Amino acid sequence: MQKFIDSYDFTGKKAIVRVDFNVPLDENFKITDDTRIRRAVPTLKKVLAGGGSLIIMSHLGRPKKVDPKFSLSHIVDHVSECLGVPVQFAPDCQKADAQAAALKPGEVLLLENLRYYAEEEGKPRGLAEDATDEEKKAAKAAVKASQKEFVKKLASYADCYINDAFGTAHRAHGSTALIAEYFPEDKMFGYLMEGEIKAIDSVLKNAGHPFTAIIGGAKVSSKLAVLENMLEKVDNLIIGGGMGYTFIKAKGGSIGRSLCEDELIPQALEILAKAKEKGVNIYLSVQAVVADDFCAEANTKLVPAGEIPSDWEGMDAGPESLDLWGKVILSSKTILWNGPVGVFEIPTFAKGTLKIAELLAQATEAGAYTLVGGGDSVAAVTQMGYADKVSYVSTGGGAMLEALEGKVLPGIAAIQE
Ligand code: AMP
Repeated sequence: MQKFIDSYDFTGKKAIVRVDFNVPLDENFKITDDTRIRRAVPTLKKVLAGGGSLIIMSHLGRPKKVDPKFSLSHIVDHVSECLGVPVQFAPDCQKADAQAAALKPGEVLLLENLRYYAEEEGKPRGLAEDATDEEKKAAKAAVKASQKEFVKKLASYADCYINDAFGTAHRAHGSTALIAEYFPEDKMFGYLMEGEIKAIDSVLKNAGHPFTAIIGGAKVSSKLAVLENMLEKVDNLIIGGGMGYTFIKAKGGSIGRSLCEDELIPQALEILAKAKEKGVNIYLSVQAVVADDFCAEANTKLVPAGEIPSDWEGMDAGPESLDLWGKVILSSKTILWNGPVGVFEIPTFAKGTLKIAELLAQATEAGAYTLVGGGDSVAAVTQMGYADKVSYVSTGGGAMLEALEGKVLPGIAAIQE
């Protein structure tokens, strides 16, 4: 079974490639950040250089019907520039038969937004708000039934299928998973997916020890499953950011007006107990930068993280926390970072997160494997110019989070099966 593109002979083959070209556009439909396009270019160029032709498919935004605002026609010229060849456009992804059939080696066709069709996601649209359960069930069955035809049509355009859209790998959509069954011997991961899979394996399957995970961000609730899975893998678990305060409170600390999910205190205690049982060292914040308001102009001071006065709020990790965490990070062989350790969008409270990025860069230089996985920590590390100083920066927020939870991603499973 074919899985990777390096060993595939594309000569004379038409490759249908699922990419994530869901790029941000401004009000004039100009691309404001083309990272996602650039990350897919090596895969696309590989097919062309190998003598194949390309049928590129993606979604853009969340249209609920045909909506020119979300048309991939806005990005045709830019894709063409990135690939260095003209790009044809198919204005309806379900009516591209003739254009696909006419493609010659080296030619490229970009299909219109897959999500103009409900069948891509396989979820019914336009249901009345007061629809009964029966009606909802019938609508779901109808879209699932027509999804088969939708996917079959896409598959009919090509000889082989490549998935290079890690950002949607956690979705069992038509183009990300279901289509793979039409290419049992000719389905494979693109370079971006391959990189992401190797990065995930480097921390979840082949980690060097000591292995440290730094989990931050706003809410325990969104990271509970990650924390639980990490307990099975790591030697050290640093819990920072807003979510850390639920743990500090669970241990009897005073956290003032800091973020807290009281209803999750029992789970936090369970995680702490489980860590003890498994010999995993947990490092919470020991010193916090607190503020008397959630804004850049607020008054700030440093206090012990478990002794925050009642009208103050923990906004960032203090230097003592960073010293403690730094020692752990710099003595680790594998480091995974997901989630900022402070309100990094406000520069006054970005110092802790910046320091973590710096420590990761230092650890990488000293030979550790470092993975930055997940939306906001990726934004932080990129914004701070450290993206090329760590081992791998993931492109998928939700997908990476689900992978770290230990889930099998449908987009990956569909190729591996
Ligand atoms: P997440 O999406 O769960 O990774 O959370 C990222 C968000 O967590 C960012 O918007 C941060 O501003 C926020 N955050 C991090 N630390 C804190 C904190 N101490 N208080 C409030 N929000 C925080």
